[in-house]
Amino acid sequence: MKAAVVTGFKEPLEIRDVEAGRPGPGQVLVKIEASGLCHTDIHAAHGDWPVKPKLPLIPGHEGVGRVVELGEGVSELSVGDRVALPWLASACGRCRYCIAGTETYCVNPQYMGYTIDGGYAEYTVGYASHVVRVPDAVSSIDAAPITCAGVTTYAALKAASPQPAETVMVVGIGGLGHLGLQYGRVFGARTIAVDVEDAKLDLAEQLGADEIVDARGDQVARVAAVGGADIALVTVPSPRAMQAAHACLNPTGRLVLVGLPADNTLSIPVFETVLRGIQVMGSLVGTRNDLADCFALHAAGRTKVVTETRPLESVNECFDEVLAGTVPARLVFDFTA
Ligand code: NAD
Ligand code: ZN
Ligand code: ZN
Repeated sequence: MKAAVVTGFKEPLEIRDVEAGRPGPGQVLVKIEASGLCHTDIHAAHGDWPVKPKLPLIPGHEGVGRVVELGEGVSELSVGDRVALPWLASACGRCRYCIAGTETYCVNPQYMGYTIDGGYAEYTVGYASHVVRVPDAVSSIDAAPITCAGVTTYAALKAASPQPAETVMVVGIGGLGHLGLQYGRVFGARTIAVDVEDAKLDLAEQLGADEIVDARGDQVARVAAVGGADIALVTVPSPRAMQAAHACLNPTGRLVLVGLPADNTLSIPVFETVLRGIQVMGSLVGTRNDLADCFALHAAGRTKVVTETRPLESVNECFDEVLAGTVPARLVFDFTA
């Protein structure tokens, strides 16, 4: 099968003909139809984070396709079912975090496209327990970005408990942020969209943001002028963007860190954090239930997924475009073209 493979950190990916995996007990083999390019895949290929992925690696945790083979003991899925293969490839189901319904913080997880091979391939092996069914009303191209960008921002906002009269500021209107902005509205909040690219600011306006703020100007003053933010969802992998977001928060505000910069250190003022009762929190993807919610919201017409499709062969150019900030919102590799 054709796959895009990371052979060394910061090396271009290689398009290779590799043997498709076979599903072991509890696993399924999925023929991929669409696979989204998350910025995390670039961090993985660059070895940006303290915990490195396996090498060689087939990245991708927004793969969507049909089950073509069942491993031993799989009864919850059938051949032909259409499923998504999210970042949380499997969780133990037994640790206190799994039992509490916070399985993304499992102490013994597998991560799709990081600790195991992911969706940048014609076939991917997933765990039957953790793939998520895609409703018929959701196309595979739309389902792909929802599988990470969607569920991540949905769960991050949920963790910050947005209230109807509050303001959610989404910083970075890329793959994650363009969906985060829409979930802010779904949760009933007023929204502020922040980016540094004209095209992303235009997109935010089209998606119904109540306020648009260009971070190339004085973001803190602009946000203050429109009443400040109660929740700041920061999808930009930049400590500076996180600091600016912190400074935009109203008393009792929540700074939700989602972007994962290679520079792993964030400095924030203690005095302002304490005197304003600000909470700083992190959020990692979302649970299977969260992803099912996101698919249901999309099927009900509550969200719009903005994509451009590409062939897998263009993966290296696609990485460059995402880093340059010139892509519409999400690039999706289309395996059916
Ligand atoms: P993306 O490249 O599509 O989006 C980033 C956006 O930030 C772009 O629109 C860009 O123009 C904008 N931007 C850049 N600098 C800015 C600034 N100073 N102020 C405001 N906007 C700015 O990336 P993505 O796929 O949305 O991923 C974003 C980050 O989230 C990555 O670090 C990724 O690894 C991380 N991520 C985290 C989780 C999680 O579970 N926590 C899940 C998925 C992705
Ligand atoms: Zn992702
Ligand atoms: Zn667990």
